[in-house]
Amino acid sequence: MLTFNILTIFPEMFESFLNTSLIKRAQKKKLLEINLINLRDFTIDKHRSVDDSPFGGGPGMVLKVEPISKALESLGNKKGHVILLTPQGKRFEQKKAKSLSKKKIITLICGHYEGFDERIRKYLVDEQISIGDYVLTGGEIPACVLIDSIGRLVKGVVGKRESITEESFDIKGKKLLEYPQYTRPEIFKPNSKREWKVPKVLLSGDHKKVEEWREKHAREV
Ligand code: SAM
Repeated sequence: MLTFNILTIFPEMFESFLNTSLIKRAQKKKLLEINLINLRDFTIDKHRSVDDSPFGGGPGMVLKVEPISKALESLGNKKGHVILLTPQGKRFEQKKAKSLSKKKIITLICGHYEGFDERIRKYLVDEQISIGDYVLTGGEIPACVLIDSIGRLVKGVVGKRESITEESFDIKGKKLLEYPQYTRPEIFKPNSKREWKVPKVLLSGDHKKVEEWREKHAREV
């Protein structure tokens, strides 16, 4: 089982994601455990403030170090590998998803507003991950991206309708994109003038030729 702890100020953003499809089933089957931790529960003032203005001035609000530190402390030895979601982090790739799927516990910290107090990055996390070179409003969508891509690599999570072997970015150990796929009908007629056909080799029953065709048509990244 792989456990994810999510530190967030907007736990409600995860509701539909965690209660749909594969991720929902994986939790039921006890292959994944996902704990939502509201950072506001770890504030000390009466307004439950998680952010404050930056020292030295400047726009926006910065997430404070105390609530995040206290939330991590509350997890004790159940915090596992701690990841800060940030545009400054290392770009997330399939290879990383694969290695993280071997962990037992992962804690994801979602930022918001202008970002984090630097001491969070410096003292409280094991690594920093970005899901791409663009800026989102918060770390909640990046957290879903990590949970989805890592979670589906945990043994038993993906069922018969999908396969996790020979997927894009990891085809026979190479960084390739998956070959084109076709299914019934063999000929599709979108109108009376057109016919869209399935490549003949895929209907041939010749496994060696199919394999060769697929290798040829898998694109290098
Ligand atoms: N001021 C920050 C900057 O310029 O880098 C951007 C902060 S962003 C509006 C708020 C939060 O969303 C970040 O602290 C981070 O947790 C999350 N976030 C935004 N883009 C992200 C990305 N590409 N990957 C991971 N997390 C991201």
